[in-house]
Amino acid sequence: MQKEVAPSFSNYDYIIFDLDNTLYHRGKPIKERMSLLRKALSMSKKVFFLTNSAARTRAQIQGIFLNEGIELALSHIITGNELIEAYTKEKGLNRPYIVGSAHITSLGNSREKPDVVVVTYLPVLKTEVLDDLKKLRDSVDELICVDKSAYLPTDGKVRCGSYWLVKAVEDALGKECTLLGKPSTYPAKLLPPDVGKKPTLVIGDSSSDEAFAKKINAEFMAV
Ligand SMILES: [Mg+2]
Repeated sequence: MQKEVAPSFSNYDYIIFDLDNTLYHRGKPIKERMSLLRKALSMSKKVFFLTNSAARTRAQIQGIFLNEGIELALSHIITGNELIEAYTKEKGLNRPYIVGSAHITSLGNSREKPDVVVVTYLPVLKTEVLDDLKKLRDSVDELICVDKSAYLPTDGKVRCGSYWLVKAVEDALGKECTLLGKPSTYPAKLLPPDVGKKPTLVIGDSSSDEAFAKKINAEFMAV
């Protein structure tokens, strides 16, 4: 009997892939997962891609897979950038001070009188930035981040996640950070409203993907 290599995607109305370390690693497609992705795309029109990272734009992510001959719908890719844009728009925040890198076209990076501090990812946090943030204690309304994971296990190696960075900024500002990325359910706001109400499968590599799946009433497949 032939061994089944992938779940029966036809059972699900929605399939949501994580990206980092699920479909690519450091911007390079994970070759052995491409058949899983192709199978999902061939069986469903409702395949979405969800990453907490704000390091790449949707178009850059699309480009990673175009090199493999796979075209992802741009509007089905949701990154940390879309989460930040949606949240700041919803709350009427328009002067962000961004700690880390982000690709947010609708907003600038406001060093003068910011109304929100946005934390993405940085490998090194300079003390000047922390000193800057301490001065903003009383003027900033909100502190948001796209990821808060303590570490990222990849290929048996452990890399630092964003937890330390978020914690340092929280301490400097004296404010608690609102998490927009998984495992918070905020990303579901950018997905069709019946995701999780109709059979949904989340495919990912981390405990935050699994926790997100559980919260939105989806099944989870670990890769
Ligand atoms: Mg991942």
